[in-house]
Amino acid sequence: MSSILVAEDLSAVGGISLSAALPVLTAMDYQVAALPTTLLSTHTSGYGQPAVVDLATWLPQVFKHWTTAQLAFQQGLIGYVGSVERCQLLQDYLVTQKLALLVIDPVMGDLGKLYTGFDDRYVAAMRQLVQLADVILPNVTEACLLASVPYTEALNLPQLLAACQKLLKPGAHVVITDVTQNDQIGCAWLTPDGVQFVGEPRLAGHYNGTGDTLAAVITGLLGRGFSLTRSLELANQWLHIAVAETLSEHRSDGRQGVALGGLLRAILTLG
Ligand code: ADP
Ligand code: MG
Repeated sequence: MSSILVAEDLSAVGGISLSAALPVLTAMDYQVAALPTTLLSTHTSGYGQPAVVDLATWLPQVFKHWTTAQLAFQQGLIGYVGSVERCQLLQDYLVTQKLALLVIDPVMGDLGKLYTGFDDRYVAAMRQLVQLADVILPNVTEACLLASVPYTEALNLPQLLAACQKLLKPGAHVVITDVTQNDQIGCAWLTPDGVQFVGEPRLAGHYNGTGDTLAAVITGLLGRGFSLTRSLELANQWLHIAVAETLSEHRSDGRQGVALGGLLRAILTLG
């Protein structure tokens, strides 16, 4: 069994981020070290102001203990970190680790804007952190922020991917996660043959936790040795299942993250 470190927010209510990554990666046969970067009473979409605990004083104690206990991880996934200080703490710990795979979802914005509470210093901290990554999973907004490219409707995908690629170590991949092509939503990345795309038909609506779940699935598949292309194909198929299941539930409360039952069954049938 492979041991994976997952660092992102733990929102008690809402079923996203760490709460979604845990079942997904457990179903994929990983031992999961679930490291909250911050604690929230709910996620930040639709519940009002959550009660938040900044874990910046706890994280160094965790890393010290793990070092004493001689814990080692084979894979890592970093999602929402949320402060420059916590980015630096994670970075300092991760440089001491010999991970076979590190995936970073540089969560910091959407629809052309940084999320509230973030600034240029945070973008700079994320640029530092992604230097450690084997794969990064920005959305279009985050890719533009990382690459210092203006966000426009007329997206130059090859240029944006190439600009992000320059921030990473040799051999690492940038995968942009919210690319629309015709009526499909999916992922785009660069190979020597040009821009590649895999996607599935876009279903109606917007759902919480799709990006977090996608990142967990992609990391789990890559860690199990699937190629980047195959991992992205399966991840998009499974997210489509999750969104379709969520739609079929006709939820009266749209705040809860995407349904994970069908996606977990799909993972288990993979064997
Ligand atoms: P987030 O904004 O949470 O980071 P994204 O919008 O990047 O999430 O979506 C992540 C993935 O979830 C997409 O690549 C796609 O596979 C799936 N997805 C998201 N929204 C839809 C939708 N409306 N219909 C079908 N699939 C979707
Ligand atoms: Mg995302």
